[in-house]
Amino acid sequence: MHYVSTRGIAAQHSFSTILLGGLAEDGGLYLPDTYPQISDAELTAWRQLSYADLASAILAKFAPDIPLEDLRELTKKTYTAEVYRNTSNGNAEQITPLKKLEDGLYLQELSNGPTLAFKDMAMQLLGNLFEYTLDKQHAELNIFGATSGDTGSAAEYAMRGKRGIRVFMLSPHQKMSAFQTAQMFSLNDANIFNIAVEGVFDDCQDLVKAVSNDLEFKRQQKIGTVNSINWARVVAQVVYYFRGYLSATSSNTEKVSFTVPSGNFGNICAGHIARMMGLPIAQLVVATNENDVLDEFFKTGKYQVRQSAQTYHTSSPSMDISKASNFERFVFDLIGRDSTRLAALFRQVETKGGFDLSGGPGSDGDEFKRIADYGFSSGKSVHADRLATIRMVQQRYGVIVDTHTADGIKVALEQRDRAIPMIVLETALPAKFNETIREALGHDAPRPAGFENIEALPQQFVVMPVDVQKMKHYISEQTGL
Ligand SMILES: *Cc1c(COP(=O)(O)O)cnc(C)c1O
Repeated sequence: MHYVSTRGIAAQHSFSTILLGGLAEDGGLYLPDTYPQISDAELTAWRQLSYADLASAILAKFAPDIPLEDLRELTKKTYTAEVYRNTSNGNAEQITPLKKLEDGLYLQELSNGPTLAFKDMAMQLLGNLFEYTLDKQHAELNIFGATSGDTGSAAEYAMRGKRGIRVFMLSPHQKMSAFQTAQMFSLNDANIFNIAVEGVFDDCQDLVKAVSNDLEFKRQQKIGTVNSINWARVVAQVVYYFRGYLSATSSNTEKVSFTVPSGNFGNICAGHIARMMGLPIAQLVVATNENDVLDEFFKTGKYQVRQSAQTYHTSSPSMDISKASNFERFVFDLIGRDSTRLAALFRQVETKGGFDLSGGPGSDGDEFKRIADYGFSSGKSVHADRLATIRMVQQRYGVIVDTHTADGIKVALEQRDRAIPMIVLETALPAKFNETIREALGHDAPRPAGFENIEALPQQFVVMPVDVQKMKHYISEQTGL
């Protein structure tokens, strides 16, 4: 297996060579040249596997350049009951158990890891894969990124204490929730650097861009990223679709559907890949919040990114996106992997803000008519829906869900076919978004053990102005490179 860019650069890469990188040289995203297929016998055999062994079996298909024994060790080290200890049923060995809400309706718990959000599922593996690869290459890596919450803390908890890796994470000073701030700033590992920027999230992102655009500095300081387009993150997420399917069925002739609270399209892109590998998924339902770029596409075939002023700050903030960075991977498949055309469409996103595959007058193509062949549909949930769903789920099922998962449940109930089990992916625990839980229920969300007093822990961070030179100086001072 080799990796190719969606925008058509001819170079073929191995898994290990794209692991530490981001975009392909031509600005595209990496995908395997063909999707590995799973046989009926394999799927049956996988029913017996632990989460860690299932993960190495799937990873082996995408990373043939890493010895299977090493993959087994890496996944065993990653998917442990100690790391995923917040499992609600007391059986942490299961890593991502299904929680039955009613017949045919399940939540799949993906938020049992250290930062209480599904990003741990992939990021924890990435931390171990990075350390393994850097060790082999006798190399080091300085991760430099910006966060408004979930991604930054998942990255820090995955990379803390890892050999050869430092993390420099920018966040807007005093703009994250108390819980999220405490989660990140209470880390005291020597390789974690929290930088509170005197500005908003966009200033943080601009600083990351400005520093990364200095190619000489970037090379010299060995700077890399861990954003959601990283291919290994997508592959790691493929695993839990298999696990969810195998847990909800007893025979491979059955189908299930998934509903996925979506932002950058990374999570549901993994579901698409699982389906392309032959996993019997009926529907993949995209759930969005008020930022409904993706809902619009899956309803009309028109992809129209939003300006910053039209990107709303909502109570499911991890889905507040104006364009979906992984969406290009799906469009590549949808248009028959024509990379020349793909490159033209995404150039048009830069120049005209979008494209139209509806087949209507003046459109850029008619591939939207094939959308159902890929199992996709979508729906949207807004603040009032979110509050109502959190209340309903507590009253009807005795379960408290977070705001993003609530968006998923709202849309799943509208879209489900009652003949087919529907699994809603739980993307965070409610403790992370307590302000909205209080608004919906009038009391606090439950706090998992070990998080009771997190806000009271000592915090370590530096405050810096929005100043590119000062930022570069700070980085090189810490790395000594
Ligand atoms: C990141 C995130 C999402 C969105 O996932 P994408 O892969 O960006 O689509 C949804 N919910 C939560 C809680 C998240 O942290």
